[in-house]
Amino acid sequence: MSIKIGIVGCAGRMGQMLMKEVLDTAGAELAGGTERPGGAALGKDIGELLGRGTSGLIIGDDARALFQASDVVIDFTSRDATVIHARLARELGKALVVGTTGLEPEHEAVLHEAAAKVPVVYAPNFSVGVNLLMSLVEKVASILDPSYDIEIVEMHHRHKVDSPSGTALGLGRAAAAGRQVALSDVWVKQRDGIVGARKSGEIGFAALRGGDVVGDHTVMFAAEGERIELTHKAQSRAVFSKGAVRAALWTASAKAGLYDMFDVLGLKA
Ligand code: NAD
Repeated sequence: MSIKIGIVGCAGRMGQMLMKEVLDTAGAELAGGTERPGGAALGKDIGELLGRGTSGLIIGDDARALFQASDVVIDFTSRDATVIHARLARELGKALVVGTTGLEPEHEAVLHEAAAKVPVVYAPNFSVGVNLLMSLVEKVASILDPSYDIEIVEMHHRHKVDSPSGTALGLGRAAAAGRQVALSDVWVKQRDGIVGARKSGEIGFAALRGGDVVGDHTVMFAAEGERIELTHKAQSRAVFSKGAVRAALWTASAKAGLYDMFDVLGLKA
């Protein structure tokens, strides 16, 4: 029996990739997609939007109806929309996968409320590779002593507005967790001018911007005489949609609770 997956925000960059991924995944069935009221894609056929011919699934703005028709809903929208969707998931007893970023504690509180009733998977990065990298970084940092300097280098496309990337900070948190320290006590997010010698135990960040780079992250452990570098390179946003659909299928056998990709991938100790 296949799992019925609904996509809210289905005409967005991620929404379209998510629908393609659902259509291409064995054991998954596309229940439909919604867009925001007034959205330009309302009334369009999903198959035609994706360039795959007529599907009979029409994009609407009735999120309640989509939740009712779905076993699980994937949400990569905006934080205000995510709050509405999390309340519907709780009320209608449907699992939810949230990729929306930029959530403040008040938005996350609504996810916690939903997670008391249904499985909710929430992750700032759904790439399987990045989550595996985070797990490896924590492990390596727990093995190596502070004579190994940790530096995190990331590169993204020229349009990215925040720095360091949320994923770089996540890698920093993983390294800090491995060393059993708080990242904010040891991070150095910029260096300019005569900043003095590097202090032992610091975790440094450097950000490069240019071209159309989807997202490169390298974590270096540099000691006297040797250097270990762990690198992930995202070449397509499809890595996020693949991870999110994997998470959606995983919810079918999960109890109510708030989960992340470490749970989905079995990376938790
Ligand atoms: P986008 O602007 O292309 O798409 C968002 C879509 O949501 C738009 O089509 C918009 O009309 C729709 N939407 C907004 N309000 C809605 C509502 N109430 N009901 C239904 N649809 C609604 O943006 P994007 O690049 O696809 O990114 C979306 C979000 O996903 C962002 O927060 C982004 O940072 C995040 N993201 C997360 C990951 C991850 O791995 N977690 C990866 C990529 C992007």
